[in-house]
Amino acid sequence: MSFSKLGLSQPLLDAINEVGYQKPTTIQTKAIPIVLKGSNLIAAAQTGTGKTASFVLPILERLSAGQTERKKRARAIILTPTRELALQVNQSIEAYAQFTSIKSMAMFGGVDYAPQKQALIDGVDIVVATPGRLIDLYGQRAIHFDEVETLVLDEADKMLDMGFIEAINKIIARVPEDAQSLLFSATLSNPVRDLAKSAIDNPEEIAITKHSASKSNIKQWIVTVDKDMKSSLLSHLLQQNQWKQALIFIETKHGAAKLVSQLEKRGIAAEAFHSGRNQKVRQQLIESFKAGEIQYLVATGVAARGIDIENLPVVINYDLPYPADEYVHRIGRTGRADAVGEAVSLVSKDNFKNLCMIESRLGHLLERVEFEGFVPRKPVPISILNYVPKHKRGEER
Ligand code: ADP
Ligand code: MG
Repeated sequence: MSFSKLGLSQPLLDAINEVGYQKPTTIQTKAIPIVLKGSNLIAAAQTGTGKTASFVLPILERLSAGQTERKKRARAIILTPTRELALQVNQSIEAYAQFTSIKSMAMFGGVDYAPQKQALIDGVDIVVATPGRLIDLYGQRAIHFDEVETLVLDEADKMLDMGFIEAINKIIARVPEDAQSLLFSATLSNPVRDLAKSAIDNPEEIAITKHSASKSNIKQWIVTVDKDMKSSLLSHLLQQNQWKQALIFIETKHGAAKLVSQLEKRGIAAEAFHSGRNQKVRQQLIESFKAGEIQYLVATGVAARGIDIENLPVVINYDLPYPADEYVHRIGRTGRADAVGEAVSLVSKDNFKNLCMIESRLGHLLERVEFEGFVPRKPVPISILNYVPKHKRGEER
């Protein structure tokens, strides 16, 4: 399959060529024709499978055929869970639209209103927004939804996790009833299905998540270790492996700051990335990390959503994430678009249940490694697959 067979016109094919994509990914092959013909769609495919282009390219195609932007009116709205992701999706749009006249903008909270309002007055076709700021600007009459032709819910699972349901529902209720609706998600969990059911009429459905939770191009392993030894084990791993870069996930903001200073004491320079740091600093950190100027980034899960670094060699879970889908999502930060990556998790005995859930989700046990000098005093038992947490068992009765 090649992009030229999917019904995209020359300016888009030229841009794809410029960006360097050889052929469409599976989700792109399936989704692009559906979106092009104007149908509603719900699609699940794991992180790093190219979902962005699967909706952006056909949207650009459809918008190119119609009228261009009017002030304070968007013709397509893409909702994303975080600022970082909004910026990233907008960058993709700019790349794919470089030979068209389509204009786009990213819109998110935590920054001044004025430039965003001005951009809307100047006129854009596509707004990529976090739900809160969009509804905020809508309330201020800085943007009207009456000309919205397509609404996209990107990373719907994460938007629900982050509590955006109310803002999303408000937006859905205010776009024209006949607008095309598209929902993309890493997983089609029950809450996502509920949202789809209430918000999207007659959708076609694509799901390519099954059995692919473990991508074969990501080498996954765990190191068992006592909790109080984690930070020295991490230093050991970083020094031993000499990864070009590593993204290190940790549970709390406080933990991130503490870990960075512990690493520093052992002569390892790292930066902390979490929601407690201001937007400008976060943006700079991402830019520097992307540019390779920062070797180790210690990040909390929510903050790191959407960070997309080419050739990131390794993701390290200093803390195991919860729920299991978050693990799948995190490790998707490496091994992007068929590159080879590694995902290492530090696991102590108190993480056992969490490990069970993750390995059950993957459908297989993860390779275990112990390091000399770090062999745990409290061993981590071998997981039971098909593990069901206690409260869930109760629910099913
Ligand atoms: P997802 O939204 O599914 O997590 P993204 O849309 O962010 O994935 O894409 C992941 C990475 O794959 C990006 O770096 C993107 O540029 C790249 N990519 C997307 N489509 C292709 C393709 N057809 N060929 C090669 N790389 C691609
Ligand atoms: Mg995505």
